[in-house]
Amino acid sequence: MTTSPHPSPAGARWRNWSGLEEAVPQRVETPTSVDAVVELVRQSREARTGVKMTGTGHSFTAIAAPQHTLLRPEGLSGVLDVDREAMTVTARAGTPLKELNLVLERMGLSLHNMGDIAEQTLAGATSTGTHGTGGTAAGLAAQLAGLELVTGTGEVLRASAQENPDVFDVARVGLGALGILTALTFHVEPLFVLEAHEQPMRWDRALDAYDEMVAAAHHVDMYWFPHTDRMLVKQNVRTDIEPGEQEPPSRAAAWWEDELVSNTVFGGLCRVGSRAPGLVPRINRVAGRALSERRYSDLAHRVFVTPRRVRFREMEYAVPREVGLDVLRECRRVIDASDWRIAFPVEVRTAPADDIALSTAHGRDSLYLAFHVPHDTDHTAYFGGLEPILRAAGGRPHWGKVHTRTAADLAPSYDRFDDFLAMRERLDPDRVFANDHLRRVLGD
Ligand SMILES: Cc1cc2nc3c(=O)[nH]c(=O)nc-3n(C[C@H](O)[C@H](O)[C@H](O)COP(=O)(O)OP(=O)(O)OC[C@H]3O[C@@H](n4cnc5c(N)ncnc54)[C@H](O)[C@@H]3O)c2cc1C
Repeated sequence: MTTSPHPSPAGARWRNWSGLEEAVPQRVETPTSVDAVVELVRQSREARTGVKMTGTGHSFTAIAAPQHTLLRPEGLSGVLDVDREAMTVTARAGTPLKELNLVLERMGLSLHNMGDIAEQTLAGATSTGTHGTGGTAAGLAAQLAGLELVTGTGEVLRASAQENPDVFDVARVGLGALGILTALTFHVEPLFVLEAHEQPMRWDRALDAYDEMVAAAHHVDMYWFPHTDRMLVKQNVRTDIEPGEQEPPSRAAAWWEDELVSNTVFGGLCRVGSRAPGLVPRINRVAGRALSERRYSDLAHRVFVTPRRVRFREMEYAVPREVGLDVLRECRRVIDASDWRIAFPVEVRTAPADDIALSTAHGRDSLYLAFHVPHDTDHTAYFGGLEPILRAAGGRPHWGKVHTRTAADLAPSYDRFDDFLAMRERLDPDRVFANDHLRRVLGD
């Protein structure tokens, strides 16, 4: 089974991956060239109808929802250029990350870091600030060396640190509001192997050791099983093992761990938990105990990515790194004191400060706290109960995940918010890329 959303022919419904958002576009096109994108933008501008290019619909919000014309990404896919001297790769914007990973692997190259799936398109993933985890390894948009986009007036702009740097500065996390990206250039490095160490840990020990672990391992990912004292801690360290010499987990071991944490068995447990919420704490204790310590090594992109077949809804906030663990403790206090029964682990990741105007890690080292419920479960009490804590800590919601914030209360969270709005005014004066969600988070 794949994690792509349902296909959406003209007049049919567009749905995001979680099924939480849907829309009925009036027109569906699959442009295969930059010229075709320019023409479609011009037509939309003249007709005063909106146009939206979607990725694979993996955002949990309606940020990608088309309100008139939907441009599908499949026609803009594939690698365009590899520059081994500059160590960059340029690909068309609709290329799925997983395809880029395979092409890079064949060339002995790799991205530095990524999130925990690779289904998304390059443009979709960067546009909402998709991140992985790492004390020094930043999110995908911060790995960009250049981009090409079609603005709301139909102009084709190339941007990098040298060319249109003011556009590059802002458009790397553009929320789909500044233009239609047609190509993206990423910094890459030689293909590398990560050594993964996964171990169950008690809550206190994991939090006490967190700073040390982040300093020692390149990528640390923690999962707390609500209603228990148990965590699963994953630490991935870069090695000098030659690609080809790695020792991936046996198929059976990989199946057991991946299915338990993320997929079939876990999905079954969630269904039992939905029908009998009182059983959730016991289920979480069993799940937390069933996980065992394991070590393996594999190509970096295979270690970063886990298949996700159980659909869910997610809220994730970036809070300042220095207060992050206290915020996590406060969230736990509220969960413990509530009558919610939370079957999904709470995920804890980190990222270093970057310089992109609307990146959730802009200007500060960040801790990311992510909360999930099954895709068909009402999330409002749980997410709504925790959001004030995250917000009070100066938290910034992930642009692709569920939150209730609006332009007025997001603006103070970003010292470059007005720069972003000014760039939007310049690149999309008629708001051909606007939809209801963007009007909510950016204003009219
Ligand atoms: C199972 C799952 C796991 C996830 N894991 C992570 C994770 O580890 N880390 C993390 O940070 N996030 C994660 N996410 C969130 C996900 O990475 C983001 O929501 C991402 O934006 C989805 O990419 P997409 O291709 O599906 O884009 P969509 O959701 O379809 O679109 C996202 C935005 O990009 C815009 N866009 C798409 N294509 C273009 C284009 N060509 N030009 C301009 N704008 C464009 C859209 O208009 C929209 O505004 C996860 C989501 C799911 C469902």
